[in-house]
Amino acid sequence: MESVDAVVIGAGVVGLAIARDLALAGREVIILESENAIGTATSSRNSEVIHAGIYYPQGSLKARTCVEGRKLLYEFCAARGIPHKRCGKLIVATDGAQLGELESIRKKAHANGVTDVDWVTLDEARSMEPAVSCVGALHSPSTGVVDSHAFMLALLGEAEANGAMLAFLSRLERARARKDGAIELEVGGAEPMSISANVVVNAAGLTAPSLARRVEGYPADKAPPEFYAKGNYYSLLGRSPFSRLVYPVPEPGGLGVHVTIDLGGQARFGPDVEWIDRIDYDVDPRRADRFYAAIRRYWPALPDGALAPGYAGIRPKISGPKDPAPDFVVQGPADHGVAGLVNLFGIESPGLTASLALAREVARCLH
Ligand SMILES: Cc1cc2nc3c(=O)[nH]c(=O)nc-3n(C[C@H](O)[C@H](O)[C@H](O)COP(=O)(O)OP(=O)(O)OC[C@H]3O[C@@H](n4cnc5c(N)ncnc54)[C@H](O)[C@@H]3O)c2cc1C
Repeated sequence: MESVDAVVIGAGVVGLAIARDLALAGREVIILESENAIGTATSSRNSEVIHAGIYYPQGSLKARTCVEGRKLLYEFCAARGIPHKRCGKLIVATDGAQLGELESIRKKAHANGVTDVDWVTLDEARSMEPAVSCVGALHSPSTGVVDSHAFMLALLGEAEANGAMLAFLSRLERARARKDGAIELEVGGAEPMSISANVVVNAAGLTAPSLARRVEGYPADKAPPEFYAKGNYYSLLGRSPFSRLVYPVPEPGGLGVHVTIDLGGQARFGPDVEWIDRIDYDVDPRRADRFYAAIRRYWPALPDGALAPGYAGIRPKISGPKDPAPDFVVQGPADHGVAGLVNLFGIESPGLTASLALAREVARCLH
């Protein structure tokens, strides 16, 4: 059996950030990816927003890794010429009853250290985004957008330059924690093989909890349940009237149907929240009515026929629709007793923003 120092399961943005970090620390790393390309799951099905760190409870792992990850991500992109833009965003209240919610969002942001989030007057909001109708607005200047694929390619490039290897079509089927502290991995796919590793990082995204339960020796009750909340997007046909991101107040399970602008200036709307039982990325065209209604609350001039079904991503939820929003879980040997094993569960938004900080969190778990 081949043996290697460290194995990362999953070549999404989080797995790639972790692999790069481990490789930079001098470890021998193999990345196992079940598909034939990087980032084909959640990492290429999101809004590509660099979140400021506004919404998450103070002291939570989401708040901490988002704020730290955002700073690291801007530095990383600037140093390597990765396309990104600090375009800022407005969070808007469309009726008086939502103003209190905006104030609590502002307080939460400040508690997280994101002190540049503040009220703007209606005139200021109107001059920033003339198409938007609202009764109150917060402005977040440090929110931005990034070319997530270019970011993932750069992470992979640096991991490989430091000796990491990536194996496509290599699904981890199951694993076993050995008495000597190593973990034996059974890899299926194109070329089935067995490997032993000192360190295994489970960054399998949507299926990370069920994969953890397939590690013999890992206490299965430590893995949370798996739930999926699909987020559908619609594209705007024609020119965007927006120059920055516009968000309504959040809805249960997500941040509300917002406007994001890609780096080419094209606007898209989403994601909504649709709880589903199995992985399925189709966008049901019948959801359009709900999109028109949600968007017209803040953009009343949205013309009929201007939306086209876009794409969908799935949030890797670890609690159900009626439960409060869970935190990210980075679970190391001190939490579950298996030497060398780190599991990442529930890495939904803001996981792209937080990826470089999550990699540091994994390194802390292993020490
Ligand atoms: C609708 C939506 C919008 C979002 N918007 C934003 C945003 O604007 N900003 C932001 O910061 N975050 C956002 N996020 C969150 C962000 O996209 C995710 O947190 C991030 O992409 C997660 O990356 P990952 O590497 O953990 O998972 P993934 O990208 O899902 O990667 C996991 C990888 O593991 C592989 N894999 C799975 N099982 C195995 C196995 N057994 N063996 C080998 N490989 C395996 C998969 O093929 C996949 O490539 C959004 C998420 C969603 C769903």
